[in-house]
Amino acid sequence: MTLDCAIIGGGPAGLTAGLYTTRGGLENVTMYEKGMPGGQITQSSEIENYPGVTGDITGMDLMKPWPEQCQKFGLKHDMVEVTRVSKEGDVFSIYRGDGNVDQAHSVIVCTGSSPRRAGFKGEDQFFGKGVSTCATCDGFFYKGKEVAVIGGGDTALEEALYLAKICTKVYLVHRRDSFRAAPNTVKRVEATQNIELVLNAVPDEVYGDAMGVTGLRVKFSDTSTREIEVPGVFTFVGNDVNNQVLIQEDGSFLCELNNQGQVIIDLSMKTSVAGLFAAGDMRIEAPKQVVCAAGDGAVAALSAISYVDALLN
Ligand code: FAD
Ligand code: NAP
Repeated sequence: MTLDCAIIGGGPAGLTAGLYTTRGGLENVTMYEKGMPGGQITQSSEIENYPGVTGDITGMDLMKPWPEQCQKFGLKHDMVEVTRVSKEGDVFSIYRGDGNVDQAHSVIVCTGSSPRRAGFKGEDQFFGKGVSTCATCDGFFYKGKEVAVIGGGDTALEEALYLAKICTKVYLVHRRDSFRAAPNTVKRVEATQNIELVLNAVPDEVYGDAMGVTGLRVKFSDTSTREIEVPGVFTFVGNDVNNQVLIQEDGSFLCELNNQGQVIIDLSMKTSVAGLFAAGDMRIEAPKQVVCAAGDGAVAALSAISYVDALLN
């Protein structure tokens, strides 16, 4: 059976695309998710800018009802990684990590992005043993202890605020003396007593022993260094686009991307390939917000419905 629509990725964009395609009348729609549905926001300790949702709520809380809502309208969830999407004639092939291949009339790619590694010595060696990219997941291990946070964006500052509630002290290490995070978040960080700003500094090395991390050495722009004795280092230095499913056997991409690897789309979320749509953080000029990813997913779904209608009728 050829699917009406295959949705790759089960974050806010994919789940919303799933809701709108099924509720909008497409019969056979499968959403493929390699991890847990919900996407990156499930790693966030708080979300306060999703419209209509007030009070203290974690990303996990926000996303919990989304899969069930889509399933009610017939969305099939397949918990498997997709390795490649290709197209021959009017039919897309969805290559699955378990070796099977599904076929679909349309595809919405919503694979989002993944945390980037900062690239300092010891980062890979101690990843998962003191170096983390998720405060909600790992912050509790450092209750009553000191930690370092690397980065100057919204994620780093918001997660530093979260960790400051659990840990005795947070060293916020940033390579410049001004932050790219929202001004209100910067103000909150500056007003938090147990956050020490370590500015104009880059991580040089994380070191430790068989038990895990014992410290972080940072290097300042004047080349001086400082040892920060902490058992935990959280890095929030941006994200890379997950565009791997679009890579073809010959190494080319299925559709057009910009030089940052983001999928080029129009206002209907159409890519350069008919029947292929992209939504959420992986597209050009994505505002990287849950509400925007969800909006993209809805637009892509409506476009996919029109495309499949025209193709089959
Ligand atoms: P993602 O959420 O990245 O979801 C993509 C999904 O695709 C993932 O579940 C992934 O497992 C899956 N996937 C990837 N590749 C494959 C594959 N090959 N096969 C199958 N599945 C695959 N936004 C806000 O609006 N407010 C906030 O307060 C906020 N806080 C944030 C805090 C943190 C710590 C982080 C990391 C992000 C935050 N964001 C916030 C940004 C927000 O999470 C993203 O903009 C949003 O999740 C993007 O949704 P998406 O569906 O495009 O992608
Ligand atoms: P980001 O905005 O790209 O910030 C990455 C930070 O890491 C920057 O401060 C950067 O420094 C620093 N950095 C990058 N590489 C580094 C390296 N190798 N070593 C040391 N520092 C390094 O990433 P983000 O904070 O994850 O945010 C991603 C997107 O999601 C943004 O659009 C953001 O607005 C959005 N987001 C929004 C919310 C919210 O709305 N509440 C919350 C989280 C994320 P420079 O500043 O010097 O470049």
